[in-house]
Amino acid sequence: MRSYWIIIVYLALSVGCSDDSDYVYENEIPDSMRTYFDSFALEASERGWSINWEAERISGSFDDIDTDAVGQCETYDSGRRVINIDKTYWERSSDMQREFLIFHELGHCALKRDHLNDTGAAGKCISIMNSGENLCSIRYNSATRSAYLDELFL
Ligand SMILES: [Zn+2]
Repeated sequence: MRSYWIIIVYLALSVGCSDDSDYVYENEIPDSMRTYFDSFALEASERGWSINWEAERISGSFDDIDTDAVGQCETYDSGRRVINIDKTYWERSSDMQREFLIFHELGHCALKRDHLNDTGAAGKCISIMNSGENLCSIRYNSATRSAYLDELFL
């Protein structure tokens, strides 16, 4: 199992492995996450990607993540991938913060992107795939969303 974490202050990375050969995908995306998965797939399709969560075996789950991380993309040896989101963080987050977090984790899980910590003009992070460990600032809002998504699905 390989894990990426997005956190506010620093990055945690853990590596392991697991056997889940008996795993069967059963539509496992929580309702409150599904709207963001759907939105991600739509934005992806508009940029030339074709993503099917079941075929890709990508699911979502809420967890009490016991580090300072708020999200994680778990990758199993079988190819199954799970986005774990910290329930407490989720419940106090805005719509845009939730979208940012899900899109970041799906950037790992669905697009197989690594972190990109480059800084652009005025100290702005150039990518949603920023790890949170550097000093650039993310301004993800309705004005910047489109450009960030173009970079995400490049
Ligand atoms: Zn990350």
